[in-house]
Amino acid sequence: MSDSPSPARVVFLGGLGRSGTTLLERLLGEVPGIAPLGEVVHLWARSVLADEACGCRELFAACPFWCKVGERAFGGWSEEQARRMLTLRSRVDRTRRIPVLARLLAEKQAVAGWWPTLGTVELDEYVATYRSLYDAAGEIADCPVVVDSSKHASLAFCLAVAGVDVHVVHVVRDPRAVAHSWHRRVERPEDGRPMTSWSPARTSLHWLTENLSLELLARSGVPVTRVRYEDLLEAPANTLRRLTARIGLPPRLGFLADGEAKLSTAHTASGNPMRFTVGRIRLTRDDGWRTAAPSRHRHLVTALTWPLMIKYGYRRALQGEIRV
Ligand SMILES: [Zn+2]
Repeated sequence: MSDSPSPARVVFLGGLGRSGTTLLERLLGEVPGIAPLGEVVHLWARSVLADEACGCRELFAACPFWCKVGERAFGGWSEEQARRMLTLRSRVDRTRRIPVLARLLAEKQAVAGWWPTLGTVELDEYVATYRSLYDAAGEIADCPVVVDSSKHASLAFCLAVAGVDVHVVHVVRDPRAVAHSWHRRVERPEDGRPMTSWSPARTSLHWLTENLSLELLARSGVPVTRVRYEDLLEAPANTLRRLTARIGLPPRLGFLADGEAKLSTAHTASGNPMRFTVGRIRLTRDDGWRTAAPSRHRHLVTALTWPLMIKYGYRRALQGEIRV
């Protein structure tokens, strides 16, 4: 490539899945100047290799947006590159690597060979590919800001360590609601196969790990803004106004009115089925778990996560749980 696209500012949505990240990405994606990209971490396997549908409902290989991004960033998508990214991910982008990534970040010492089992050469190659993708996507969408809703704290650490201009939005939801969502059987619209389901204990462990990792990232000097799912649905305009101010964009929220949002087509590469939704949606909290989740599940999740629940302002919810 003779000319490089201008650097995109990256908004990374972090947190455990089923916490409202897809909804937040769709809402942010309606703000002028912001391009939502979906869960880019899964783009290599699900989009490039498996050719699953983009949020516009075209297969990835036929989506005009992603065709242009691939051409602009890499001279076209390739199976070889996707497999290389999966290999690199297995080596550098892992939750168990976070303590070392945090130390690298804190000491600003991402020097090749400093930690031989991580391999910063591989980390640099891995992140350089993301950087090219983000920059090309921003350029093709004509947006200064792109949103990656990959969620995994480990990828946010990788980006930050390698110097990407990233602003992390830490999305939190009541863990009892998250656990109920992960326990349900849901089919993937892409192929009809069941989505991953976890026990309440396993969800609690993942909820703690992801949230504590993002707390660590915030303490490492990376800009992190916390958003609670419940606050987003309670006061969407205020929440988005606060977020756009933090991102540095004007709060143009004309798509919000009377408790509804109007969603347009988004070229999100992977993620929750809500990425296909177009048109008006009612912004209401999904509190079905309060009656549908067995009380033993709610008590177990509360017992495992209560210190962080209190930190995130779920104290009143916790008291309600104790009275049950
Ligand atoms: Zn598309």
